[in-house]
Amino acid sequence: MTVPTLSNYIGGSWVPSRGTTLLDVKNPATGEILARVPLSTAGDVDDAVGAAAKAFPAWRETPPVERARYLFKFKGLLDAHREEIGRICTSENGKTLAESRSDVGRGIENVEHACGIPTLMMGKSLEDVARGIDCEATRQPLGVFAAITPFNFPPMVPLWFLPYAVACGNTFVLKPSEQVPLSQRRVFELLAEAGLPPGVVNLVNGAKDVVDAFCANPGVRGVSFVGSSAVARHVYRTCAENGKRVQALGGAKNFIVVMPDADMPKAVQNVCDSIFGCAGQRCLAGSIVVGVGEAYGKVRDGLLAAAKAIRLGNGAEAGVTMGPVISPRAKDRVLSYVEAGVKEGARLLLDGRKSSVPDLPGGNWVGPTIFEDVRPQMSVAKDEIFGPVVCLMRAEGLEDAIGLVNASEYGNASSIYTSSGKHAREYRQRAHPGMIGVNVGIAAPMAFFPFGGAKGSFFGDLKAHGDAAIDFFTERKVVITRWF
Ligand code: NAD
Repeated sequence: MTVPTLSNYIGGSWVPSRGTTLLDVKNPATGEILARVPLSTAGDVDDAVGAAAKAFPAWRETPPVERARYLFKFKGLLDAHREEIGRICTSENGKTLAESRSDVGRGIENVEHACGIPTLMMGKSLEDVARGIDCEATRQPLGVFAAITPFNFPPMVPLWFLPYAVACGNTFVLKPSEQVPLSQRRVFELLAEAGLPPGVVNLVNGAKDVVDAFCANPGVRGVSFVGSSAVARHVYRTCAENGKRVQALGGAKNFIVVMPDADMPKAVQNVCDSIFGCAGQRCLAGSIVVGVGEAYGKVRDGLLAAAKAIRLGNGAEAGVTMGPVISPRAKDRVLSYVEAGVKEGARLLLDGRKSSVPDLPGGNWVGPTIFEDVRPQMSVAKDEIFGPVVCLMRAEGLEDAIGLVNASEYGNASSIYTSSGKHAREYRQRAHPGMIGVNVGIAAPMAFFPFGGAKGSFFGDLKAHGDAAIDFFTERKVVITRWF
């Protein structure tokens, strides 16, 4: 079978990239080459931004209710191709089919939410701000927006931005992760089928050069970024210097606190899913479990048993509960952290370094890995590992546990397991992370609520989706009127 070379989608047509470097897109479970993705150039970005700028005047004048109709059609197409996109996601990312289906489903929820744009985009008004004078605040689109997304949720993360940007009357350019460009290729085919006018949505494949071109291009009014903190910081700084709106969602090190009064069997299974789901490659994944008092021993023993029951393998196969990590490079990174943890004195309770899957020698396998006796200054406790590795820590009481959580430079999400409303309330008030789960291991992204962390996990003011998206993608213009 010939391996396809991917094209960009610009001005309503699939066009070849100007870039001459091609990267292999590989199935992380089998090593099979699925496609070749071009590293597009600043010239490709100019073309896409130019097409989006050309489409903007007519699109912003299209009534919101008509813009929403395109999204209704797009949502119907996504529903009809849900399973197909899920399977593409599993082939390029490695996660299990169940995980891919929920990835697509959460993406679709954003399209559904953005379909309400005639209501979401309404302004405010007040008559008689002074005698005979009325005032109103209206929302207006701004122009061309760009988004840059990571490898770990190929269908969903681009849909945190695209539906809201275009529903608000802007035009849009996406750069998906070069590691997983295939789900978005299919999504863009469906956008074309939905009949959006040429140039309203565009896709440019590539990596760093495309990102830097977005940040510098004077035609781009705003940038949404999701990825690691180092790149998020770079995008945030560069866009700000160039006078652009920017929201940059970064990496994570999520703590889970288990209190002695937690419902232990339920907590343990839920914590296990949080840690090892998507092979630990979720920005909401638990990666440090703090057992408070006598909870420590119970949660350690329960997690060890649950982790041993995980079935590693090709996510496309029934019965597999954990897939591979994304690439050999990611595997090396995870293994080097495990080695560092051992050197620093953490105790390996379960070692996934030598895990393999029969008949799939080309997969990037790392088995569930559990460290105990982890101290806060160890690299495994401080850095984002982004793999199926968990660190267990002890705390004397809730106060100590909150101290450990708040000492982290990250602040994406954190969960507490408890049956005490008092403990839960204390935690939600005092823990720093931007998203808190109470007896929920993944503080899941809900389309109709804003999404984003705090501290080193988020750079910007306006978070993703929810009402924050409408603020991000519109200018709030104030008009004050008097008639003589
Ligand atoms: P990454 O930072 O390597 O890549 C993200 C995007 O940035 C990709 O499109 C990539 O092409 C581009 N990029 C990579 N290096 C760049 C550079 N030096 N300059 C400019 N652009 C560059 O992240 P990843 O490995 O694809 O994804 C995993 C990371 O994303 C983890 O840190 C995870 O926590 C984070 N993440 C965060 C959230 C969130 O909501 N906060 C959600 C999903 C993933």
